[in-house]
Amino acid sequence: MTVIDCHGHYTTAPKPLDEYRKRQIAALKDPSQKPARDLLKFGDDEMRASVASQLKFQRERGTDVTIFSPRAAGMSHHIGTAAVSLDWSQVCNDLIHRVCTLYPDNFIGVCQLPQSPGVQPDNCIGELERCVKDLGFVGCNLNPDPSGGYWTDPPLTDRWWYPLYEKLVELDVPAMVHVSASANPNFHHTGAHYINGDTTAFMQFLTSDLFKDFPTLRMIIPHGGGAAPYHWGRYRGLAQDMKRRPLDELLLKNVYFDTCVYHKLGIELLLKIVPIDNILFASEMVGAVRGIDPTTSHYYDDTKRYIDAADWLSEADRRKIFEGNSRKVYRLDRVAARHPAVA
Ligand SMILES: [Zn+2]
Repeated sequence: MTVIDCHGHYTTAPKPLDEYRKRQIAALKDPSQKPARDLLKFGDDEMRASVASQLKFQRERGTDVTIFSPRAAGMSHHIGTAAVSLDWSQVCNDLIHRVCTLYPDNFIGVCQLPQSPGVQPDNCIGELERCVKDLGFVGCNLNPDPSGGYWTDPPLTDRWWYPLYEKLVELDVPAMVHVSASANPNFHHTGAHYINGDTTAFMQFLTSDLFKDFPTLRMIIPHGGGAAPYHWGRYRGLAQDMKRRPLDELLLKNVYFDTCVYHKLGIELLLKIVPIDNILFASEMVGAVRGIDPTTSHYYDDTKRYIDAADWLSEADRRKIFEGNSRKVYRLDRVAARHPAVA
């Protein structure tokens, strides 16, 4: 079995990337600060050193390959213009491509999109196509709230988003619904904004006919689906009250959940509530929570351990969670030549 972690971020990129971003932001007020791409000409050794900790965690935890995207909080679509977002996305996606080229057995790319608040997301189509067609990426992160916690754009189910969905369907790649940093002090980014984003996306999908319009569109809701699995009865009941179809018909052919839930009982709840066909193994390593749980002496984000401990799972179900579902959702067969781990 190949263990595929469908949710990892390049949180360990070389430091000059931060400098590039700082200067990019400074250039919004003082154009002379605009950074040159030369700042990011990293040697292969520097690139290798930057993912050493990621590779070590893979080895220690027994995961084989990570579906890898730029740092989520770093996307910060609320900063600057769409042009700034495009430059920043290209830079970040190119670095993901470098990592995936250096370690094709360990990393498969997913891209950041150049979203910007108030800008219709068809501005992202060019970069999505470049990443999928030229760089061999297998999906994208889609920010449901480019404003960073103020929700100023239409819901994900609005026609505003449809041109981008048409391209996702044409390219046959999924989107992980993933917010970025919170610019609203009410919402801590990983503790509140992320989980709000996940839950909000689920409810938007529940109240819409998006998947009637796009029957092959695939969305992954990360962080275990936010609050949705824990409140499954509420969502089933709401759908029923609204005379919607049952959840399995309404959205479970299109919506998937990852396993970035950082305790055993939480994962068990996810595994028992959500159909196994809709669960993709992930850890969101390295990043959201970095410490060791004193009650177990293991890293909170070592999520494989929680699934391994669920000894009531059948072997077939375990295989789906660790490998089969990701293969299907990301159509990994298409990148098998580039990434032997999924051949
Ligand atoms: Zn993430």
